[in-house]
Amino acid sequence: MSNLTNEVESNLPGYKKTAFVCPFCGVYAHQSWDIHLQNSNRGSSSNYSKYELLTSRCHKCHEDCVWYNKKMIYPVNTGLPRAHSDMPAEVRTLYEESAQIYNISRRASLALLRIAIEMLVNELSGNSGGRLFDKIGTLKSKNIINDMIQEAFDSFRVIGNQVVHPGQIELDDNIDHAILFSILNFMVDIGIAKPLQIRKLFEDSVPDPQKEAINKRDLKNSTSMKVNPPEDDLPQK
Ligand SMILES: [Zn+2]
Repeated sequence: MSNLTNEVESNLPGYKKTAFVCPFCGVYAHQSWDIHLQNSNRGSSSNYSKYELLTSRCHKCHEDCVWYNKKMIYPVNTGLPRAHSDMPAEVRTLYEESAQIYNISRRASLALLRIAIEMLVNELSGNSGGRLFDKIGTLKSKNIINDMIQEAFDSFRVIGNQVVHPGQIELDDNIDHAILFSILNFMVDIGIAKPLQIRKLFEDSVPDPQKEAINKRDLKNSTSMKVNPPEDDLPQK
């Protein structure tokens, strides 16, 4: 086993470990353990069952993991990616519920994911009414999303419909639907996180006179008025 694998494994959650990477906040953090139920085998009968229920509390986010007989039973390890940190709260709740049941009922999980997508579309369009089909079209026509994101939204919509209206269109079980979770995170990154980062970069790094020159340039581009470039943009002599 490589050193890197060793290191990753040693950071994973484990029974009675004093620190591990918290499944809630993703931070390597100190953990305090509490015993809630313990029934050790003190009797002579072999039928006398042993059980133990503990919680580990993360010192960073204060969330509790639940451990039954040395195994973590909550949160369930889904193997799916964690929700993007900029995912809107309502979308995140559905994303996490969907991930929790993905390995139990893929159809139920995908039905929740379709609602999550509709909420994300509503968030981006500022409009909660109407059909998802039309709202995606509006986002595209207003240049709020590009072709790639539009295709992703429509894929979610169609897969969601296959789940919600079984019999009409069949869900293709050969498709690895787990990829939808990564795609949803990617859409949050492209649709919400990156625009915020770019706006902040522009606001923080471009001085007001430059912003004025940029506004004039854009006005010129729309009216064909001639505008001199700012000094620092003049060609090198
Ligand atoms: Zn935590």
